[in-house]
This record gives sequence, structure tokens and C-alpha cells, in this order.
Amino acid sequence: MPVPVTRFAPSPTGFLHLGHAHAARVARDFAKQSGGRFLLRFEDIDHTRVRPEYYAAIEEDLRWLGLGWDGPALCQSDRGEAHASALGQLRQLGAAYPCFCTRREIEEEVARITGAPHGPEGALYPGTCRALPDDERQSRLAAGAQPAWRLDAVRAAEITGPLSFTDLRHGLLPADPALLGDVVLARKDIGTSYHLAVVVDDAFQQITHVTRGEDLLASTHVHRQLQALLGLPEPRYLHHALVTDGNGIRLAKRHDSLSIRALREGGLEPGEVMNRLPQA
Ligand code: GLU
Repeated sequence: MPVPVTRFAPSPTGFLHLGHAHAARVARDFAKQSGGRFLLRFEDIDHTRVRPEYYAAIEEDLRWLGLGWDGPALCQSDRGEAHASALGQLRQLGAAYPCFCTRREIEEEVARITGAPHGPEGALYPGTCRALPDDERQSRLAAGAQPAWRLDAVRAAEITGPLSFTDLRHGLLPADPALLGDVVLARKDIGTSYHLAVVVDDAFQQITHVTRGEDLLASTHVHRQLQALLGLPEPRYLHHALVTDGNGIRLAKRHDSLSIRALREGGLEPGEVMNRLPQA
């Protein structure tokens, strides 16, 4: 078996909290127990939310925790060309279409349809722009409209046929192409999306094992589809349990008191912080 390569992929939009430390440790331990490599990637495509000071703060907190990584960190914001070229490939395949809807129009359309399709993350895109005639699409594009690009999930499934993926906790799972519907592949304002960027950059970094929180399990169904469409290798997955606060609520950046920075400034030693994490 080739040596594992894992990654920790935080967004520089806030300080790391215990949940991030857990995710980083799972990835680090998985790689290191088999002599593999543990990489760091900043998921910083959303320039509306990224703050420059958090890159260094995240690196410093990881080092302080003893969760050092191998090689230089990759910034997804430097990977725009690769993301655009993957989108181009999907368009060529007929697996992506432009969407001109505003958020408001989508909400109104969902409210109008009885029995609008829902997924694990709420209402799915109702497919309005999938049905646009081609000449209408062309004239809107020619008029300078800036669309988002969406996956045509039905077409994608026809192209790839049935797919599955392996999760080290859950075993072999069939990929459900309809689970998240026609997800956005490229946002109007940033030209890419989490789903597109994560798949392209995991392949670029030669990640063999994607370890991440189980809140992202639904996304993996889409990622598997994108990997197959783009001809990218299929990593294995390990979706781990999330760290929760004392009330069982999953940690988020708003839990400032549980940020690594706050715990450290409160006088805790790295080992004491690590001891607060669940046993992997
Ligand atoms: N950037 C994501 C997060 O901070 C991680 C995504 C992933 O691991 O695929 O939750």
C-alpha cells in the first residue's frame, strides 16, 4: 500500500477551536502511524470571509499544539486556474450549466413548489435554470449576465453510472448523485466553490485519505461524482465524529471561549488542550 497522505484544510476566517484541533490530529495521526505525510491547505477561496491575520494565527496554533505539517501550506486562492479548467471540463461534458437565479428567486421558487425536493442540508435547487432553452442562455451570457455554474446532477449520473466510495468507519457506501441536487460549482463572485476546489486540490496534493468531520459526509457523494467526471483518483475517506460543547452543540467559530487561542491565553499547556479532545 502506498504511504498515506492526509490533509487538514481550515478556512482562515477565524481562530482554530477544539473541533479543528481534533480534525487536525485525526489527519496527522492517520498519516504518521503509517509513515505518511500530513499536509496543510488553506481553504481561502471566499475572499469575502477570509481575514489575512488568520493564516499565521492558524499555523502558530497548530505548531503550539505540536501538530506540525509537512512542506509548505497550499492556498486554494492560488489555484484559480486549475479550478477554472476543471469547470471548463465539466461544461464540455455537459455536466454543468449556468444559473442566473438570485438567492431570493430560488427561495420564492422553492416556496411555490409543493413538495420541493429537500436534502440533508435543506431545500435543493429547484432546477429553474437547468430547463432554460439554449438560446436564452446564450443571449443572457452575451448580454453580460454573470451566472453561477451548477452541476447537472442527473446528467452527471448518466455520464458516470453508479459510483461508490469507501469510508473507513462506514464501509463501502453507494454514492447518491441526487443527495445534494444541482450544487453550485462556481459562485458568481468567486468563480469556484468548496465542492469543486476540494476535489481538484485533494487530487493536486495527492491526498490518499480524506479525513474530515461527519458533517461533510453528504458532500462526499457529490465529490465522488466530480472525481469520476474529471478523471481524478478516488481517495478513501474517514468521516470522524464532531467535537461538541457541554450542551452537545457542535463547535463553531462563535465558540470563542473554546478557541485554542483563548485556552492558551487562559494558561493551558498544549498537552492539556489535547487532553480535552475526544480519543480518536
Ligand atoms: N474547510 C473545511 C472546514 O473547515 C474542511 C473541508 C474538508 O476537509 O473537506 O470545515
